[in-house]
Amino acid sequence: VIPATLDHRITNSQRSCAMTCLRKHFLSYVLGIRRDEDAKPLRMGSAYHLGLEAHGRGQGADPSVLAAVAAYDTRAPETFANDEHAADWLVEREVVARLLTGYFWRWSEMDAQMQVLACEVPFEIPIVNPASGRSSRTYTLAGKIDKIVRLPDGRIAVMEHKTTGDDLAPESDYWRRLRIDSQISVYMLGARSLGFEAETVLYDVARKPTTSPRSIPVLDADGLKIVVDANGERVRTKDGKRWRQSGDAAEGLTLQSRPETAAEYGDRLTTDIAARPDWYYARREIPRLHSDLDEARHDLWHTAQIIHECHLGCRWPKNTSACIGFGRCGFFDLCTTGFDPATMPLPEGFKIVTDRHQELTVE
Ligand code: SF4
Repeated sequence: VIPATLDHRITNSQRSCAMTCLRKHFLSYVLGIRRDEDAKPLRMGSAYHLGLEAHGRGQGADPSVLAAVAAYDTRAPETFANDEHAADWLVEREVVARLLTGYFWRWSEMDAQMQVLACEVPFEIPIVNPASGRSSRTYTLAGKIDKIVRLPDGRIAVMEHKTTGDDLAPESDYWRRLRIDSQISVYMLGARSLGFEAETVLYDVARKPTTSPRSIPVLDADGLKIVVDANGERVRTKDGKRWRQSGDAAEGLTLQSRPETAAEYGDRLTTDIAARPDWYYARREIPRLHSDLDEARHDLWHTAQIIHECHLGCRWPKNTSACIGFGRCGFFDLCTTGFDPATMPLPEGFKIVTDRHQELTVE
């Protein structure tokens, strides 16, 4: 039997999870079930954040990149030992390193004019009933703010770092959605509770590449491509003076190729980042009005009430509209096979964590 316990701290991720599917909240935050291996976006996002954190604490660009990549290595030594996946992991490491290097280059001028006042700052504040003004005796709101900075014009801002696969164009839905994003409001409340008179939020986003390593021609010692016939013999041009440089399936001529190495792919990515930095990086101020903060307080109170009622009644309704809508839910296999945590062992591929709010861990 997996013990059901609910931490008194509610985080924004938890709130968002509860709003997506209360059963998912139960599995994740009450039972503490996680998949054995972090999903790729989470893993990359965490490593990228470690590099930004190191930089925010005063380390130079190179040591910060190393901090991110080293953390990547130590997270999954067993996966690196597995040859089948080693190439994929090396590419992931390379992407993190190149994105961070590009980031430090892209924002070096602006960052030199900003002052980091605090980095990876945890906060815990009461969840207040907006009608009575009383604080919940059961729950608090906890979070960790990436950075609190003084902007070049002197204002104090909460700075949020994100990685995304979405379009970052100024008119994209990515930015429109942030107008109503509750995490931003919650973090403003958190920063103020810590004594920082935050006036705005600086949202800082890096877009993950859509490219991946490709197949490239094998070159000989002179840098020439190699074309072979059906017998594996290297082929010359028709006049016999040069080595042929292109394959032809109809003639049975094959251009020899090999997979691009992680480092070669990284070089190509760096070239692309330098050519179009605004595709990869964007920063925008997301203003917060009093009405936004008020709405966040109301939402928070009501979400806490819903979680509390489910917990008291030991009933956590499924929202099956969320199972496969935006990618497959991590608990799909549990839900669709009738997994009962009270009577059944946890299937392979899942684990129980005691720390349900890993994002709050202070390293
Ligand atoms: S699989 Fe569906 S019902 Fe089950 S936790 Fe995920 S979203 Fe909820």
